Amino acid sequence: MDNFVLRPVMAVLDKVEFDGSSADEALSEVQHLGKPTHAGVSRFTEHATRMYLASHRPHADVAMRPVRELWVAQRITKTVVWELYAWGRRYESVDGRLREFRFLRLGDVGSRERDPTEIALAAYVAAFGAPAAWPDPWSQPFRPSGRAGAQCVRVMDVGLVNGSVKPCFEGTAEEVEEYFAEHGRRQVSTIVAGGDAVPGSGCASCKRVTVCDGPGRTPGLLGLDASHGPLRTVSISGLRYYRKCPAQAYLRSVHLPRAYEYSAEAELGQAVHAWLEAAHDGKPTQCGRDALPALGSSWSAGKWHVAAGVLADAGIRMLAHHVEVCPFHEASEIDSIQVEPRLTFADTTARAIVLARPDLVYREAGQWVWRELKTTQKAPESFGDPLRKFPQLALGVAVLAAGGLGPGGAGRVELEILRPTGAEIVLIDPADDERVETARAVLREWATAWRADHSFEARVGRNCRWCPVSLWCPSYPGPDENGKDHPSGAASATAAES
Ligand SMILES: [Zn+2]
Repeated sequence: MDNFVLRPVMAVLDKVEFDGSSADEALSEVQHLGKPTHAGVSRFTEHATRMYLASHRPHADVAMRPVRELWVAQRITKTVVWELYAWGRRYESVDGRLREFRFLRLGDVGSRERDPTEIALAAYVAAFGAPAAWPDPWSQPFRPSGRAGAQCVRVMDVGLVNGSVKPCFEGTAEEVEEYFAEHGRRQVSTIVAGGDAVPGSGCASCKRVTVCDGPGRTPGLLGLDASHGPLRTVSISGLRYYRKCPAQAYLRSVHLPRAYEYSAEAELGQAVHAWLEAAHDGKPTQCGRDALPALGSSWSAGKWHVAAGVLADAGIRMLAHHVEVCPFHEASEIDSIQVEPRLTFADTTARAIVLARPDLVYREAGQWVWRELKTTQKAPESFGDPLRKFPQLALGVAVLAAGGLGPGGAGRVELEILRPTGAEIVLIDPADDERVETARAVLREWATAWRADHSFEARVGRNCRWCPVSLWCPSYPGPDENGKDHPSGAASATAAES
């Protein structure tokens, strides 16, 4: 998938592979040509380019040359232009019998399996496509020309954080046909048919977002005055990172690879969330204690594992206390259950795509309920107004008050706090004008500086020591005087995948 962080990397590689520039020359030309980028993105571009070039040893068996044109498979009927191409780097053997397609990803190739549909499309265009330049304007069809296809095809995946390389497919054109029939053809007919809109973080860069019916339109959601800046994507956690450090928020938002960032306690919180996500998925059945792991044992939920010990037991006790406050305890007329849904709202006033991932939303007797979950081992304490302490609750109130979840009333927003010693529910009424006003004021307070910022400079301080994107940050002051290691040293960068 195209990502704007990859574009300067591609531009540098083009200069090296097609114009014969050195990496240094190409980097300096590209950094001075395009519009100014964040210094952290420039640093990543340089790192990624050098990693790619170092990973790209010529194959000993065949001499390969880079290919500038895209490989496009095209069929034009009376009503539709059917075009396939894939986004990456292309190479072919001098005799044209072998083509190699390379995907680029920001993180490590081992961080996530590449989708077989993507592999099938890339293999197909390499095996059967003809070279074509990018059409100008892009709304025009491609004009492929030259030799179509190759006898043999290789598809590789390259991880830019460390130059890791993984073969995804290797075979003859006939084998590509079979692989494509299994993994690609159905997907392609969906694309041709249009498919359902899948709103999300891609919306901000989509030309059609203002007319698309994908993201829910909720003007004024963030409580800001009319903005004229570029459309941007934000979430409550993004605003939290912004408060800590604008540079960290920015470098996270463009999905640069991150060092591992979870403490043992944070891992436990994720495991409790994942356990309840699975328990609540689908039908409104009250959780019971029978399914809980025994005290003293290790347990897992989703991709999270908690080794036997004090923390694992604390998590089991939290889950046992959840039973008392389970949303489906004595509940009736429940429908539209969505567990950790990825919700997208278009705040056309703030020109922002707002992403939210509440822990649970559902309708009870026609009224929407928005529930957030927090796990903690701290003793209960007074935290003042929950809307101020937990801005994700303010977003829930603003969304329900705006009718953002669809047909149904604004029922309630809940915060469930789980401790090893007990459970607590905080309730907020989104039909109460004062609560709605306060929620909007909180969101405005959190979002104003973010919306007005155009440079996202680093706020250097203690937080830098734990910052998972400090590897890319030119303002990172280095390890502290106690000689603590850099938390995201290149060699140990466990890349989170975008
Ligand atoms: Zn439950």
